[in-house]
Amino acid sequence: MEIYVEKFGGASVNSASAVKNVFSILQKTNNKRVVVISAMGKTTNKLENIVNLWYKEKSFNEEQFKDLYDYHKGIIKELFYENSDIYLRHIDGLFIDLRNKINSIDNDNYDFLYDSVVSYGERISTYIVSSFLNYAGLKNKLVQSSSFVKTDNNYRSANVLWEETKKKTNENILPLFDQTSIIITQGFVGGTIENLATTLGREGSDYSASIIAYCLNARQMTIWKDVEGLLNCDPKRMPNSTKILQIPYSEAIELSYYGASIIHPKTIKPLENANIPLYIKSFLNPDNEGSLICKDKAIKPIVANFIFKDNQTLLSISPKDMSFIDEKNLSLIYSILFKHKIKVNIMQNSAISFSLCFDRNDNIFKELMQDLQNEFMVRYNNGLQLITIRHYTQQAIKEVVGKRKIIIEQKSRITAQYLINEK
Ligand code: ASP
Ligand code: MG
Repeated sequence: MEIYVEKFGGASVNSASAVKNVFSILQKTNNKRVVVISAMGKTTNKLENIVNLWYKEKSFNEEQFKDLYDYHKGIIKELFYENSDIYLRHIDGLFIDLRNKINSIDNDNYDFLYDSVVSYGERISTYIVSSFLNYAGLKNKLVQSSSFVKTDNNYRSANVLWEETKKKTNENILPLFDQTSIIITQGFVGGTIENLATTLGREGSDYSASIIAYCLNARQMTIWKDVEGLLNCDPKRMPNSTKILQIPYSEAIELSYYGASIIHPKTIKPLENANIPLYIKSFLNPDNEGSLICKDKAIKPIVANFIFKDNQTLLSISPKDMSFIDEKNLSLIYSILFKHKIKVNIMQNSAISFSLCFDRNDNIFKELMQDLQNEFMVRYNNGLQLITIRHYTQQAIKEVVGKRKIIIEQKSRITAQYLINEK
């Protein structure tokens, strides 16, 4: 059986007209499809605010809760008009569950609380989208992803249990295609073996789609975005962007590793392993050619790719006793970085100093510094920007670095990186 997997992110379902647009895209073909959907618009952020307030002060964020409720209710009314009642009643039920869930969790495990609550965003969006598609004549079945995307209980960044997921997907999802050609499910959300909700990390819906595509050995996967495909730069930062028509999996992994935010970094690997082509297309212009990520080694066209990371912190670390930066010192530095879950974006060393930069994080900074300063002399800078250019040219470097003061420069055959002061 040939299965297709399609993923619609939060921006593609953020209003009634957006949901109608999803209908019009899906009705173009009659392929057997699993359709993975994120929470509507900014729902996940609001749910995070509710969790955070509850966690900090055990106080219920009525304002954000009401905002979310009204927002979803408004979308339902616009989708179903005079027939809204049964859908509104169901949504009322979900919101009551959500409130009860928060009030009943007397647990100081933040990550557990987070997953139980934030996963409601996707539960609500998939209910609305699935109901609307059925209502408008596109028959589909809604299946809870927690029942087949199986994970460990590393809440908020759960790890997929591949064997279990593959088994459940094949046993529970495949047979449903005898009854329907569209299955709707939640992105971002999984479930433990005991069926407790987990999440896969922010923006994890792309990854959900690729897990499902892998387990079903899908024919292809499509991610529908509000941009025309993969662009060689962020059009909000640079005036002339170029659409990448095709790149190999390996290059897509490199781009997301350096911080290109268009696809979740874990998305590509499962697709590469099962050789499933990934299309990135615009839900605003669905007939336009998007970008294709596949096995073929050709890059079309080869242009410089720009990736910007703002708000970087630079640390310069030197041994107190004037000894060299050697393997022993490096392993000590790294064990401290690991302890604080720091992901190093660029590093460089000289005989007596080791420099590294990472995404600024004020929550852990003080403790990180204390640990490092027990052993080393440490200086730091904030307000830096890291620019990575894949397939760089002199012209490309000049364009983004210009005359700005370079703090660290690193070049390999394909990649040039510059740490510079933010403008
Ligand atoms: N709704 C989740 C988030 O906003 C997952 C996703 O959209 O991919 O992070
Ligand atoms: Mg999202």
